[in-house]
Amino acid sequence: MSLTTAQALASLLDEHDRAALRAIFGERARFDEPLGSYTSWKIGGPADVFVTVERESELAALMAHCFARSLPWFVLGSGSNVLVGDGGMRGVVLRLGGAFAEVHARAEVTHVIVEAGASAGMAAVTAKAASLGAIGIGSLAGIPGTVGGSLRMNAGTDREIGDFVREVWVQRPTKPEPHPVTVQYYYRHTTLARDAVVSRVTLAFERGDPKVVREEMQARLVRRKSTQPIALPNAGSCFRNPEGDKAARLIEAVGAKGWRHGGAEVSPLHANFINNVGGATAADVAGLLARVRRAVHDRFGVELQLEVHLVGVFTDETHAG
Ligand SMILES: Cc1cc2nc3c(=O)[nH]c(=O)nc-3n(C[C@H](O)[C@H](O)[C@H](O)COP(=O)(O)OP(=O)(O)OC[C@H]3O[C@@H](n4cnc5c(N)ncnc54)[C@H](O)[C@@H]3O)c2cc1C
Repeated sequence: MSLTTAQALASLLDEHDRAALRAIFGERARFDEPLGSYTSWKIGGPADVFVTVERESELAALMAHCFARSLPWFVLGSGSNVLVGDGGMRGVVLRLGGAFAEVHARAEVTHVIVEAGASAGMAAVTAKAASLGAIGIGSLAGIPGTVGGSLRMNAGTDREIGDFVREVWVQRPTKPEPHPVTVQYYYRHTTLARDAVVSRVTLAFERGDPKVVREEMQARLVRRKSTQPIALPNAGSCFRNPEGDKAARLIEAVGAKGWRHGGAEVSPLHANFINNVGGATAADVAGLLARVRRAVHDRFGVELQLEVHLVGVFTDETHAG
C-alpha cells in the first residue's frame, strides 16, 4: 500500500473530536462505520464517524464543530444516488432522522401544501400529497430518496421537485441556525450551496380530485415496476440523459446490457441501471461505468455525464482484475 493510500484511509478524527461527538450524539455517533448498509447499492467503505442527527439544534452543534476543526463532512439521505468508495469517507458522515422525518400536508382552497423535514421519505410525501389531490405528484412517485436528497438532485421524471418548491431551509457551517434560501433548479442539479444541509422544505401543488391523482400515481408506480429492476440493489439511472437523447438508448445500442465487472452488472431490464448482483465493490461499479462511457463515446462521440455522485476514497480493488 502506498503512503498516499494509507493517508487517504487514515481517520481524521482525534480524541477531542471523538469526545465532542459522543457528548452531542451519544450512541448515535458510530465510529469506523461501514456505509454499505446506508446506500441502495449496498456498497461503501467505513466513515470515520457516522452520526444520526435528530434535531436542528444538534445539526447546528455538529456544523459548528466541523467548522471550528476544519473537518470534512458529508450528508447522506437514503443513499439512493451515491456510490461510496471502498476506502470509505474521511471525517463526518451524517444522516438526518428524528424530527427531520416529519411530514405535514394540508389542503387549502386552491393548493395542497406539504411541509416536510429533509429526512422524510418521498414515499410518505407523495402518499400524503396524493390523498389530498396534489396535481403533478405522480411525477415524484416511486423515487426512493429523502426530501433533502431529492431537492439537492432536483429529482423527478417529466416534472421535478423544484417545480413545486415554495420554501427551502438550510443549515451551514458558517451559519448553523436554520434559515431560508433561494434555489434555482436544473436537470438533476441545483444552485444549492455545496456546504448547505437542507433541513426542511415546503412544497405547493395545485389542488385537484384526489381519486384521479391517486389513480394516476398508481399507474406510474406499476409502470416503474415493469421497466426498472427495483428489487435489486442499484442507484437508479447512472448517467444523465444527454440533450435530446436518452442515456439508456445509447447504452443499449452499444450492446452493454448484461455486461459484468465483478459483482456489478448493467441491468438487462434498463440499460442505464447497474445492479449489484452479489458482493460488488465500488471499484467494480466504477470499472463498469468507465467501460460503458468509453463504448458510448467510441460509437456515438457522446460523453455521458454521471448522474450518481461518486464520493469518498476509491481504491483499485476490483473483482474483475
Ligand atoms: C430504483 C431507483 C429509482 C430511481 N428513480 C429516480 C427517478 O425516477 N428520478 C430521479 O430523479 N431519481 C431517481 N433515482 C435516484 C435517487 O432516488 C434520487 O436522486 C433521490 O432524490 C436521491 O435522494 P437520497 O435521499 O437517496 O439522496 P442521497 O443519494 O443520499 O444523496 C444524493 C445527494 O444529495 C445530497 N443530500 C442528501 N441529503 C441532503 C440534505 N438534507 N441536504 C443537502 N444535500 C443532501 C447528498 O450529499 C448527495 O450529494 C432512483 C434511484 C433508484 C435506486
